[in-house]
Amino acid sequence: PVILGIESTCDETAAAVVRGKQLLSNVVASSMDEHARYGGVIPEIASRAHAESFVPVVSKALADANMDISDVDAIAVSAGPGLAGCLAVGVSGAKSLAWSAGKPIYGINHVIGHVGVTQLQFGDLPEDTLALIVSGGHTSLLRVRNIATDVQVVGSTLDDAAGECFDKVARLLGFPYPGGPYIDRHGQQGDPTALKVPMGLTQGRAGAEHPYDFSFSGVKTAVARWVEARRAQGLDVPVDDVCASLAHSVATVLSRKAIDACKRFDSHTLIVGGGFSANSQLREALAQAGRTAGIDVRIPRIALCTDNGAMVAMLGSNLMQAGVAPSALDFPIDSAMPLNRVSMS
Ligand code: ATP
Ligand code: MG
Ligand code: FE
Repeated sequence: PVILGIESTCDETAAAVVRGKQLLSNVVASSMDEHARYGGVIPEIASRAHAESFVPVVSKALADANMDISDVDAIAVSAGPGLAGCLAVGVSGAKSLAWSAGKPIYGINHVIGHVGVTQLQFGDLPEDTLALIVSGGHTSLLRVRNIATDVQVVGSTLDDAAGECFDKVARLLGFPYPGGPYIDRHGQQGDPTALKVPMGLTQGRAGAEHPYDFSFSGVKTAVARWVEARRAQGLDVPVDDVCASLAHSVATVLSRKAIDACKRFDSHTLIVGGGFSANSQLREALAQAGRTAGIDVRIPRIALCTDNGAMVAMLGSNLMQAGVAPSALDFPIDSAMPLNRVSMS
């Protein structure tokens, strides 16, 4: 099927057209430049930017695919999780388009979209697989038995997301928002053993049903204390070493738990996605752990890791091919959409 995918969960207004598992167009507009000076995404500014970008972005995605709306079999749009005001703009726009063109619409789960998008680069998902989704807002291990119908949460962060932890330390070091990429770059030149950074919840909660949960707020605090102590003593802060040590700790925990979960659930493939999977230390740690364990680690190119319309369109394509009923035209947005819900009924 030909699916138009529309994304507006946070700061990206994005649209893409997918035919089956072939990407025909992919257009992304970001309002991040407008948020940078506030040190975080301002929902009101992001919502306004979606309202301005919606029509141009969707038009360009259709034009780049050499199509108009009548050529599309269905529309897919992120219904959650995300910022409510942002979701409302994208979902309202998508519903209007579906209604006027008489097309079915799928309100899909954005986080599951990060899993589905890997099919555009690596082909079909194996039947029963594990997925690690890491971003500024999420750190989740998912068991994906069938992407259209059966997704379970195996682990998630108890506090900060991995990207959030990087962004907070980056702010402390004086880097602009979002600071994750600065930690990555500086970390490449530093000594990862310079500081003893704790590993975020390596054992899981005591007696945990979920040994694959994460916790990064203690990691952030440990780094902050170390930096503040140096400053209090009038010593300079070895920024590259701090970044390398932080990145090493976070990448190690994420890759270790993800690979352990693959073994526990007998998955030979690990799917990776979300904005933080752009991180070079994580990509390296996962690739190495995968080689050692004999697990096929699928981390897509960076343009497919960060938020985009292709991920939404691809999941819509999966849903349609699996025969899942489209969403009712009055489906709600859900800013805290549970990760075991793939689409809205
Ligand atoms: P969502 O959480 O809504 O799914 P997303 O998937 O786009 O969003 P973002 O939250 O936009 O993910 O991901 C960006 C996060 O990843 C930010 O915290 C950013 O600092 C971090 N990040 C991006 N690139 C890198 C990198 N190379 N190294 C470390 N962190 C990075
Ligand atoms: Mg983003
Ligand atoms: Fe995302």
